[in-house]
Amino acid sequence: MSEFWQTKKLHQMTSAEWESLCDGCGKCCLVKLEDFDTAEIYHTDLACKLLNINACRCSDYKNRQKQVDDCVKLDHKNLESIQWLPDTCAYKLIEQGKPLPDWHHLRTGNREAVHQVLGSVRHFATSEVGVKEHDLEQHIIQWVD
Ligand code: SF4
Ligand code: SF4
Repeated sequence: MSEFWQTKKLHQMTSAEWESLCDGCGKCCLVKLEDFDTAEIYHTDLACKLLNINACRCSDYKNRQKQVDDCVKLDHKNLESIQWLPDTCAYKLIEQGKPLPDWHHLRTGNREAVHQVLGSVRHFATSEVGVKEHDLEQHIIQWVD
């Protein structure tokens, strides 16, 4: 039997199906810096103040955009224009017509696999809270999908 992520386009999914796609890697919740001259985006090892780093989940998902000005709410319309999502992002994979990876929780039922197999931000991120603006550049990391 085919599953919804194999048959539906992103815009056809229910909100529950959409939400269930997220693998919980936490990579989209890292603080990013933009070079204003080149528009290049750099990821840091700092997590948004609302990210529960161990769980890799937003601690106030419902109100996230009220609490964090630059929190981007993903949808099927803006997905293509967002350059900083990791190539492993489940939304990006489905948008590109690719399958979900073998370890994805929708295929295995195991929500820990994203931490063990892919490697989520749980393993390296620290909170942005208390980090001074002039120190942000020291936290830039090489992005590895
Ligand atoms: S990068 Fe994609 S899959 Fe990972 S947490 Fe963000 S939205 Fe979910
Ligand atoms: S507000 Fe929540 S969803 Fe938005 S970037 Fe921060 S932790 Fe992620």
